[in-house]
Amino acid sequence: MATDATPPKQSLPLVVECEESKEDVTLPTLTEWRQAAAGMPQRPPSPSADRADWIPREYALMSQDELDQRIRAAKAQLGDRLVILGHHYQRDDIIQYADARGDSFKLAQFAATRRQADYIVFCGVHFMAESADILSAPHQCVILPNPTAGCSLADMANIAEVEKLWGVLDERYRDETAAGSLQSVIPVTYINSAANLKAFCGRNGGAVCTSSNAAQVMQWAFARGKRVLFFPDEHLGRNTALKLGIPEERLVVWNQREEGGGIEDAQALLDAKVILWKGWCSVHLRFTVEQITAARERFPGVRVVVHPECRHEVVAAADLSGSTEYIIKAVQESPAGAVWAIGTEVHLVRRLAQEHPDKTIFCLDPIACPCPWMYRIHPAYLAWTLDELVKGHVVNEVTVDDETAKWARIALERMLATKGA
Ligand code: SF4
Repeated sequence: MATDATPPKQSLPLVVECEESKEDVTLPTLTEWRQAAAGMPQRPPSPSADRADWIPREYALMSQDELDQRIRAAKAQLGDRLVILGHHYQRDDIIQYADARGDSFKLAQFAATRRQADYIVFCGVHFMAESADILSAPHQCVILPNPTAGCSLADMANIAEVEKLWGVLDERYRDETAAGSLQSVIPVTYINSAANLKAFCGRNGGAVCTSSNAAQVMQWAFARGKRVLFFPDEHLGRNTALKLGIPEERLVVWNQREEGGGIEDAQALLDAKVILWKGWCSVHLRFTVEQITAARERFPGVRVVVHPECRHEVVAAADLSGSTEYIIKAVQESPAGAVWAIGTEVHLVRRLAQEHPDKTIFCLDPIACPCPWMYRIHPAYLAWTLDELVKGHVVNEVTVDDETAKWARIALERMLATKGA
């Protein structure tokens, strides 16, 4: 184990190139410990400073080999009592330890089948760990190795602002609610949202959706209501509505940062078929039509596939669009020699390229810019949380209170009941 005077033998290499995903930005405590050990002037963090990303100093300074040995030893010792889940966007130095790999819903469902596991360590982001807790058994603990692994998209839908909009809509639609048989508006939230927003949808007759089943869930909602209020990703909501043939002029964006949602025409909310919350995923907004044009110029015959969290113009310019699982399947089923330009998180794209050496696979964005939230799950945090579990201590547990979990589960169950979910 390294001491104060001994800098780490082998620090994990940085694999990022964009500013916002650099390790000193995403992992400040770990960086400060390392810089202090290397004699750099930064003040090391103190456990009493109550830093959310706090980690014991010795773990911050361990080499990659030592972290690897510790993680493998803890896994072996905990056996079936432990399950480690790895989201597709995780770094390779984490994915290698995952018992299951997938998107957030697939992983939560996988965890729900492992009732013998006391500990579910979710290598993803906070809302995913919440979903796993909602679907897990009462005796199971869900752990997020670094609690600062949030998600900027999920954080854009603050429940107080959501309730405020609900009040505005209640007022606006009061007359038609009394007259009609359909509910005026059905709330639908993308699974990339906090548990309290899922619960809000459950309580108000709505449902959750994933990027795979957003169209089915929207159709389900239109069978019950006149309009859909879609959270928190404006782009997934727009792409889904347009795919269902709803014209752009019947889509309204509610900008929670502006007075009255930024909607000046009072009639617009009455005429709307879909009200879109103004949220976005910074990772998927990096993809542009110009990148698609450049890929086609460089590789005639290239197939372009993007995630539906991208802007509509990008989805329209691509050959295909779909969820991470859809993208993986499209690549897997393509013939040898296929050329793919992919618009989603770079770790998944790189992994696909490694797993399919007979195909040319690259990320649409020439600047490697991983999801800075996923990137916070570093092997040092995983090693620490597992070592603590071996000692019988649970650190960084994620829990959802019973009332919130009950309504969120209802919203998830409604999604599962929709055809093809
Ligand atoms: S890729 Fe986007 S939606 Fe997914 S965790 Fe990162 S910021 Fe959130």
